[in-house]
Amino acid sequence: MPSTASEMTSQDGVKFISGLLAGVGVPSILWGEYLLNVYGVPSIVGGIDFVIPDDKMPLAVATLKGSNLRPCPDLDACVVSGDSSPFPVPAFHMHIQGSEVDVSLRAHSETLWFIPPPNNPSSSKTERAAKPNPYYLEASSPELPPWRHGRGHGAFSSDGSPVLVPRAHILLEAYIRLASAFREDYGHYFLNMVTYMAEYPFKDGLINTDLLPKPCRTFWDGHRQGKLPVRQLMNNLQRDLGDDIDRGSEFSSE
Ligand SMILES: [Zn+2]
Repeated sequence: MPSTASEMTSQDGVKFISGLLAGVGVPSILWGEYLLNVYGVPSIVGGIDFVIPDDKMPLAVATLKGSNLRPCPDLDACVVSGDSSPFPVPAFHMHIQGSEVDVSLRAHSETLWFIPPPNNPSSSKTERAAKPNPYYLEASSPELPPWRHGRGHGAFSSDGSPVLVPRAHILLEAYIRLASAFREDYGHYFLNMVTYMAEYPFKDGLINTDLLPKPCRTFWDGHRQGKLPVRQLMNNLQRDLGDDIDRGSEFSSE
């Protein structure tokens, strides 16, 4: 079990938490700044986020509370949960002892509502390999970039507990949909994420944008061409996605 702050914030710490959750039957998807690092975006890792099926959230929270993570000392003042948070406040978060890094849990219905959550983490490695998931892949996948100087963490090693990440086009689609769904409060933040995706994973050839649904593809093309004002692109996106903000209920975790 990783114990020091630097171990907890390394890929071993991420694998440890993913494995802790998997051990009680909670599937998790890596999210947030750590995920960007896996995709070769040179961002500072302030947090390790996981997306959890809504119905598994109580169990996931109880599991983290039983770990060596530290409770948040002040929810109102904390950058993760306070008013100054640049992104939607997670359902639950804790902190890594002796570091500034937080571990956050986000509800599937608030983050990846347009795809089903992964199956329970009970399937064996051979089962997973036999049926590639259209939405997720393992953080150790050769489809992910290797470590590069100044370009983030890159893919994980294949030892230890598996960690799931969204496929690159799903991550881009999520940021576009989130920019629309949370336009008023966090639109700027998610548009920055779209720009990161354009600057790094897209330029690296990691994103097949043909797989984007039409409203998101239209937005992406317009954003890249830069001919229309972003405000207008966002208006068109919200119109084309329709009432897309009714998250959840469509999928269960089973
Ligand atoms: Zn906190």
